[in-house]
Amino acid sequence: MASLVSDIEALKSRLYRAACEKIASESVALTRVSRALWENPELGLQEKQAEQLLSSFLLSRDFPVRRHHVMPTAFLATYPGDVSAVDHDVKNPHDDVPISRGDIISATSSSGLPHVAVFCEYDALPEIGHACGHNLIAVVGLAAGLGIAAAIDAAWSENITLGKLSIVGSPDEENSGGKIKIMEAGALAGVDFALMAHPSKFDDATPNFSGCATVLAIFKGTGGSSMNAWYGGGGGNALDAACLAYQSVACLRQQFRPDWRFHATFKSGGVHLELVPEHVVMEMYYRANYLEDMKGMENKIFDAFRGAAAACECSVELLPVGLYYPVISNGALVDVYRKHASAMGVNLPPVRGERDPLGCTDMGNVSLVIPSIHPVFDIGTDTVLHTRDFAAAASSSEALERSLRQAKLLAMTAIDVMLTPSVISALREDARRLRQT
Ligand SMILES: [Zn+2]
Repeated sequence: MASLVSDIEALKSRLYRAACEKIASESVALTRVSRALWENPELGLQEKQAEQLLSSFLLSRDFPVRRHHVMPTAFLATYPGDVSAVDHDVKNPHDDVPISRGDIISATSSSGLPHVAVFCEYDALPEIGHACGHNLIAVVGLAAGLGIAAAIDAAWSENITLGKLSIVGSPDEENSGGKIKIMEAGALAGVDFALMAHPSKFDDATPNFSGCATVLAIFKGTGGSSMNAWYGGGGGNALDAACLAYQSVACLRQQFRPDWRFHATFKSGGVHLELVPEHVVMEMYYRANYLEDMKGMENKIFDAFRGAAAACECSVELLPVGLYYPVISNGALVDVYRKHASAMGVNLPPVRGERDPLGCTDMGNVSLVIPSIHPVFDIGTDTVLHTRDFAAAASSSEALERSLRQAKLLAMTAIDVMLTPSVISALREDARRLRQT
């Protein structure tokens, strides 16, 4: 037993080295990818050039890639992959060799080979470009994928099948949540665990990504004479109703818990000064750290909106558009990630403890089904996400350097997990529990 354990530890070390050397050897090409994405920011669902760039990069590295998979600007690369299912003439290095488990793995794996997914995001924000640093997320996903694939090859050269890798290109994180559609289409079936990492101004293995609901509120004036702006009487003013609703929630904020957030924008506010606004649309987010709180928050906000509409003799329709769940950081994955972060000299705050909310992400929905982690990493800035300053920071050479270090960290985490049967078993048990809740 002792020799089997030391064999596995020695194997892990060799595979970590293979992964890290591969990532280091691709640093120039990966820098080019990050730079190209940053210089050409594309909004969600319009990331055509990003999809082309990342898919081409992976195809050039012999990954079988399903382009436009599920969504026009999504892709899925699997390694080793099923080339027959791919639209491109790409050689899979494992095609000629039936997959069989090596001695070590057959002694440790319980049901099927471990399967890891890493995500690339690449959508930008209107007007301020890559202010969420998704150009760096894309590079972390690509680089981690290259590293894990190199480890799969290195293991294979020792007659050991490490497992399976999916690199998922997931569009439109900032709006509709590409990961949700990709997952609902079954593209992540069979994945045991999922990894990604987000740039930030600090390092944290378990950041606080809250849940977030998107709702459209459509206010309508009532009464046939409501369009005349100077006559008076008649039906209500939909803009008044919307403003009152907004202010009502502003007053309600003193009853909100510290982690609750509400924000809204007006999508329309009337058509002409001579006409009473008859139709006004507001889009809102409300966020909370815990799913249980979101329902309570919704009740308060919706009551306020209905009350404001009634006070202004208007109606309001409340249409849920989307829901991002809070990210659940899987404990077993967090432990492995933290171990490697510590070995690399990354200082992480303790797992437990208060944290400021950091926004929301469609990775929350993934984490509700597949054991996941979504750490954040410091790119050497003191500014927050979604600002022009962060967009500038996301193009720095220091940010790129730290992104590649993060990719190595994710790759080593994946390799370690794939070669640790107790962790794989725990993840599969966690996945079973997630499916039941
Ligand atoms: Zn982001």
